[in-house]
Amino acid sequence: MSSYNRRSPPSRIRLISNPAAVNPKKNQRRCVSCRRTGERESFWRIVRVHPGWQIQLNEGMGRSAYLCPREECLRLAQRKNRLARALKARVDEAVYEQLRSELAKIVKPKASATASSESSGGPVDDQREHARKN
Ligand SMILES: [Zn+2]
Repeated sequence: MSSYNRRSPPSRIRLISNPAAVNPKKNQRRCVSCRRTGERESFWRIVRVHPGWQIQLNEGMGRSAYLCPREECLRLAQRKNRLARALKARVDEAVYEQLRSELAKIVKPKASATASSESSGGPVDDQREHARKN
């Protein structure tokens, strides 16, 4: 007489395959003006929102066009109506004005903080931006 004890260990093997097949090149966008391609983050996204055909910047769902944050591209887009063509909608002057003000934010006016201190006169308190790398 033998008692037969059988244990079945819960050995469930699961194979988790992690396909890191994310192609970064798939996220490339193209400027409507100069046709330069690049990462999405490096462009302005101009969106024609679906209901109402409103044009807005950087957010919203709908048809979108991309533009370099550069004055040349902005000017060209306006002059040649590139944005309107890409979006298949009328692009108001206000949109371009908004972009222009965005550009003014990015392109800082030349800081006149670089005072030429040739001779060491005194302790110059230089306000420097320390670019910390994290
Ligand atoms: Zn461009």
